[in-house]
Amino acid sequence: MTTARALPVLDHTAVDHAAAAAAFNDDEARVDWHDDALWFVREKRDRAIELVPEWEALRELASGIKEHTLSRLDEYLIAFEAAATANGATVHWARDAKEHNRIVHEILVRGKVKHLVKSKSMLTEECGLNAYLESRDIDVVDTDLGERIVQLRREHPSHIVMPAIHLKKEEIGDTFAEHLGTAPGLSDPIELTAAARVHLRERFLAAHAALTGVNFALAETGGIVVCTNEGNADLGMALAPIHIASMGIEKLIPGPRELAVFLRLLARSATGQRMTVYTSHVHRPAEGQELHIVLVDNGRSEQLGRADFWRSLKCIRCGACMNTCPVYRRSGGHSYGATIPGPIGSVLTPGIDLHKYAALPFASTLCGSCTAVCPVKIDLDAQLYRWRQLVVDAGEASATKRVVASLGASVLASPRLVSAGGALMRFAMRVLPAGLMRKLAGPWGHDRELPVPPSESFTAWYKARGRKGNDVA
Ligand code: SF4
Repeated sequence: MTTARALPVLDHTAVDHAAAAAAFNDDEARVDWHDDALWFVREKRDRAIELVPEWEALRELASGIKEHTLSRLDEYLIAFEAAATANGATVHWARDAKEHNRIVHEILVRGKVKHLVKSKSMLTEECGLNAYLESRDIDVVDTDLGERIVQLRREHPSHIVMPAIHLKKEEIGDTFAEHLGTAPGLSDPIELTAAARVHLRERFLAAHAALTGVNFALAETGGIVVCTNEGNADLGMALAPIHIASMGIEKLIPGPRELAVFLRLLARSATGQRMTVYTSHVHRPAEGQELHIVLVDNGRSEQLGRADFWRSLKCIRCGACMNTCPVYRRSGGHSYGATIPGPIGSVLTPGIDLHKYAALPFASTLCGSCTAVCPVKIDLDAQLYRWRQLVVDAGEASATKRVVASLGASVLASPRLVSAGGALMRFAMRVLPAGLMRKLAGPWGHDRELPVPPSESFTAWYKARGRKGNDVA
């Protein structure tokens, strides 16, 4: 068990996204390759979907299926439980993270499990399962390579699909040298992966239970589907005598016909692959094995009841909105201080704790790129905008934001003030040093080149053009 560094504690303290992003931006080279790496994935996604002429129809269909299922979630959940139970699985219901962790712990205690292998599951991150089990003397090993790297470093994933995307290969080499005993200075990805494989293989063989996430659960058949690229979920499920599958209740879809739609969308949106390398269907426990499925609410019912935000539950966790978001790409996943970062995280988290996550809806340019790529058509930018209004109404916006916004509103409501303000700014930009102007612009001016001030206002320019236009006509 690794205990070298303490994991960041998740508490009620307000997240200061701007400050955390500024800290990430101190390492300019890291910001640049982080940005480039994510944009590379975004471009791969674009190339992949160009080969699917019916892409927009698939998105529409997926959105409709999810909305249909969410609007009848109670019925589908009961149907799923009945079918899964008939298949031989044990279905558990968890109201919140605490109950989820308790249920998993009880299963492990009953099975005398001391070693658990886990494949990627953002839900267990959300529930803080690792820390909970480790404090009860159960060894938990994340077996997804990226997750294992951040686990060894006592960090949280910074991306839901690529958990260690914020790290350079040299840093991973240092982590492996410290924890796995590899040669210092190793940075070749093939050698690093080979070392991780040897290390993880031992853990798989020693495990008494495997916990996996769930990408889709099928109400009609009671089956679950797990998508991975590394086969780690499959190895864990195949070897361990106990398989626990933890899933949020929004993972439900009606059945296999609908599954086909989502499988075509998921990997293409996530990484530009046509399909994940492993798409594993689990319907019943193998002979001599126990299969437990834990259905977790943890605030989802409440989100489902919010007229402005229930559609966020359509999310299939592909990560495409993060890869395309200019703020995420240049501020890093950890700056959000949440299990799910990026645009979808900024929509989901204020509903969990408005005070803590009040800054996140503002961590967006509202350019709408997230909405444009989302395979299930979640109107992310509209929901972010709505959360901003609610944050302000609840008095959770910072004092600076409130003063500047109300000053801005008064100025923008008066054409004379806009015109006078513009003239003042043009004058100031001409006579004051650029460094001072950047300081006056606050954080906005920190990393920006100031534009050359125009010689006249837009109104003057427009009027002049209008006269010219009339002359030509
Ligand atoms: S909100 Fe849409 S784009 Fe973002 S992770 Fe979810 S499904 Fe993917």
